This record gives sequence, C-alpha cells and structure tokens, in this order.
Amino acid sequence: MRNKAIITSALPYANGEIHLGHVASTYLPADVTTRFLKLKGVETYYICASDDYGTPILIQSEKEGKSPKEYVNYWNKRDYEDFKAFNIDFDFFYKTSSPENVKFVQYVFKKLYDAGHIYESDIVQFYCKNDKKFLPDRYVKGTCPYCKAEDQYSDLCEQCGRVPPEIDDPKCSICGQTPTKEKTKHYFFKLKNFSDILYKWLDENNNLQKDVKKYVQNWIKSGLVDWDITRNITWGVPIPLEEAKGKVLYGWFDNHLAYISTTMKFLDERRINGKEFWNTADIYHFIGKDIVYHHYLFLPAMRIGIEEEYKLPDYIPTRGHLTLESKKISKSRNWYISLKEFLEYYPADYLRFYLIAINPYSQDDLNFDWDEFATRINSELIDNIGNFVNRALGFTKKSFDGVIPSPEDYDQLDKESEAKIKTLANETSELIEQNHLDRALKKILEFSSHINQYFQHKEPWKKAQGTKTCVFLAANAVKSLGIALYPFLPISSEKIWEQLGMNSKITEQTWDSISQLSIKPNHAIGNPVPLFQKVEDSDVKKYKSRLGKQN
Ligand SMILES: [Zn+2]
Ligand SMILES: [Zn+2]
Repeated sequence: MRNKAIITSALPYANGEIHLGHVASTYLPADVTTRFLKLKGVETYYICASDDYGTPILIQSEKEGKSPKEYVNYWNKRDYEDFKAFNIDFDFFYKTSSPENVKFVQYVFKKLYDAGHIYESDIVQFYCKNDKKFLPDRYVKGTCPYCKAEDQYSDLCEQCGRVPPEIDDPKCSICGQTPTKEKTKHYFFKLKNFSDILYKWLDENNNLQKDVKKYVQNWIKSGLVDWDITRNITWGVPIPLEEAKGKVLYGWFDNHLAYISTTMKFLDERRINGKEFWNTADIYHFIGKDIVYHHYLFLPAMRIGIEEEYKLPDYIPTRGHLTLESKKISKSRNWYISLKEFLEYYPADYLRFYLIAINPYSQDDLNFDWDEFATRINSELIDNIGNFVNRALGFTKKSFDGVIPSPEDYDQLDKESEAKIKTLANETSELIEQNHLDRALKKILEFSSHINQYFQHKEPWKKAQGTKTCVFLAANAVKSLGIALYPFLPISSEKIWEQLGMNSKITEQTWDSISQLSIKPNHAIGNPVPLFQKVEDSDVKKYKSRLGKQN
C-alpha cells in the first residue's frame, strides 16, 4: 500500500437515474475503500464524472426537445444529488464533456495517431437520405437476425443480448425510412498490436482478480480485433484532424480518460503536481463486470500507447450484477428500485450495511431480497450492533452517571475482550486492503457480538466485583466499533461518536486507534439513544408489492 491513492468508479451514464444495481457494484465499495484509506492516513481522492457522450443520449435529448448539453447537465446534477444522499463522498464529481476532458482526449488521440496506433479505413454504414446523416448504433432499428425479435437497436438485441453484425429489415429510428448504405472514413485503434504486452501486464499484476484475468487472457488468445473509435454524429469529442471534420470519437474512447483529466483538474486546483501524484499513487478503478473488456483491454492499451505518461491501474475491483428478488433489474418492466426512492423508505446506512454484507469480492451476481434485508437489518445491525452500543452506554449513564470508571484487576474474560480490541484494527485492515469488504464487516459484527456476550456474562448490573473493568472495556469497545464502522456506516458511526461524548471528529481518527484503549477513566459520555429503528414486515411487504407494477 502506497501513501497516496486515486479512487475512481465507473462513470454513470448521464441518461437516467441511479438505481440499487449501480451503487452495489461500484460506488459503494469505492466509497467504503476511500473512507478506510483516509483513516489509514493515505492521501486519497475519490474522483468521478458523468459520462455525457454517445448516441443514446443524443437520441433521448432530441426526443425531449432539449440540447444534449442541457440534457446531460440535468442528469449530472441529479446523479450527484442522489449519490450525496447515499453518502457517496466524492472528492470531485465532474463530467466527460468538460473542456478539460475534451482537450485531454484530443491530446491522447493525437499522440496515439502520431505513434501509428490509429489508422484510417473506409467502412460502409447505414445512411438516411431523408435526415441526411449516417446512422450509427441506436439510429437504426430492425429485426435481430439471431432471435428474430423485432424493433431492436442495431448495436444490441435486448431480447437475446447479442450484438448482430447486421440487423434485418433496417429502419432509420428518426424517420422510419429504409436507410441506404454509404461509404465513410473511420478511424481504428490497433488494439491487436497490444496483445502481447496486455497479456504480460495481466500476468504480472497480482492485485487483479485471478478469474477476471483468466478470461481476459482467453480473449487475447482467441485474437483481439482493432477497434472502431469513430462516430458520424455531432455529440462527442471532435476528432482533432482536418480531414475528420464532422466526426467524433466513440464514447468508450473518451470516457475513461476522464478518470485522468478530472483528477488532473482537481489536483491542479489544489496546486498538487497531478502527474507526479498519479504516478506515485495506488490507482483503483472500481467497476461492474459488464465493462471488463473496456477496463482490462482498451484502457490499459491506450495508456501504454501514450508511453504510460499516466500509469496503469493497480486495482480494478470488479463485481457482479445485482438482481432484485432474483430477477434481472429492468426499468421498462418496473422491476427496479431507484436510489432516491429507497432512501425515502430507509436511512442510507441500512442500505449500505445490507449491500456490503451480501457483496463478495468476486464477479458472482448478488441478489437484493426484501425479506433478507429486513432480517439482516433487524438481527445483525439492530440486535447486534445497535443493542450492544445502547446497552453499554445506557448502563454507564444509569449506574456511573455517564462517567467512565477506573478499571480494576483483569480476570480471564476481561483479558479476552481486551485482546479482541487490540487485534480488531489489524484484522479488519487486512481484509479491506484485500477488497474483502463483506468479510471485514462480518469481522466487526463478530467483535460486537463477542463484547456483547462478555457484558452479558459479567452482569455488571449486579454490581459485583469487576464491574468497573467491564464498563471501562465496553466503552472502549464502543469506541472501536464507532471507528471501524465509519467506512461502512458513516452516519451511524458519527452518532456513536457523539453518544460517546467525544470532542474530536471521527474523520480525524486513525484506523490504528481502533485497537487503542483511548477512552480514559473520568471521561464523560454523551446521551445514549437507540441508533436504529426496526424494519417492519408490513412495510417490506408493501414495498415488495410495488415491484413490476406499471403505473
Ligand atoms: Zn436477438
Ligand atoms: Zn431518417
């Protein structure tokens, strides 16, 4: 682990609202990791941006009678607000259509072009004589040649999930007429030429997930194809060549470059040498498994192509998709919960807790289940953590007037609990460093449960000998919990901190202090109140019944 880090998560496409599937695989794990690294004393910045270009956005904005710029500005703002409400704490959230990114993308294009990594080739593409334009991707609809589904976009059949080489019975999606075919010049990135060097990079980077590496290497073995990076549309980064007038770069050429350009803008404004920072930091790109191809092949190849002016990622934590009640999330079928809607039902920390608890560091899909959500919140978050914190602090308030007593001699049970406190920082740190956020959270739950049982065993309310030691250790365990939970449950953690009567801010603590007995005798705690409220079965039933209903 280096003493600097840049964290990014896959850019939200500025074309619709954030839902539970988005946050589970990328934004939440990235946010937890960022908060953790900051407590570890690593100079960490979490950078993100809206992904603004591409045909789907252009088409949708045309439908709504807005300029694409107006359209993406709306979603940029709305997405940011939703993330904020979920306590996804970006250090900087910007956009791929920023002047800084456009400039950087054109710089990278030129550098790759001059080095011979980009070539021109004529291709034949659909053209609408009525609208007088070329029709890439979603501008053509037709029948899927594989499964015969009608009314499918030419770049993806939603019925069978395949990308047809050519769609049957093509129609212009703007005017409905049958398009003709015209020759047009496109630019191609020589991805093939990077096959060996990419293969080797994957081999040598031990931080990347083994299973992902393996299938990306299989793609390389079966032969990479050069990549068409051109679109004949108006909304995108213009190709910076005189002869390419009217052509823009494909969105996947420009969007991941915003990781770099956005970071450079942010650091530049803080008068930090951005390039030097980037090249001496741990670089993390958090993604979902649907964009593995782009992040394990295009992204590194392009960085290698510009002579690694900005170094390659150290970590690309890749996670699976979220299903909802065991079915694929679908907006059109209303099998879907937006982040905004969920946060009207429950506090952000409930969702953060559940989504981390069910989310392994792997590409396995995970499932949001309303009943399991209720069970986990009620039994793990409330009965375990909430109950222990309230019990320990409530008892201190009632029996010691809220003042921590001096410990007396330690018996075997006290020693065991003290040892648990002393090992918690390292044990959880190791797991988070390995991206096993779910296991780290589980470790914290085990800790809370252990100390709760210890408290139960010692029966301090009987005022027997050893009561003071028990209260002293329990208060310190609450403090340990408060810090350890901060990356996962920032709001609850701040509440714990306040109830403990701490004068400092939780963000000023260090991860190592989890294992220090820093609450001293005579410290006065604050006011203990229950941290959480039970999730009611009747509510869950109601929310579940809303799924799949068309309004
Ligand atoms: Zn199909
Ligand atoms: Zn047309």
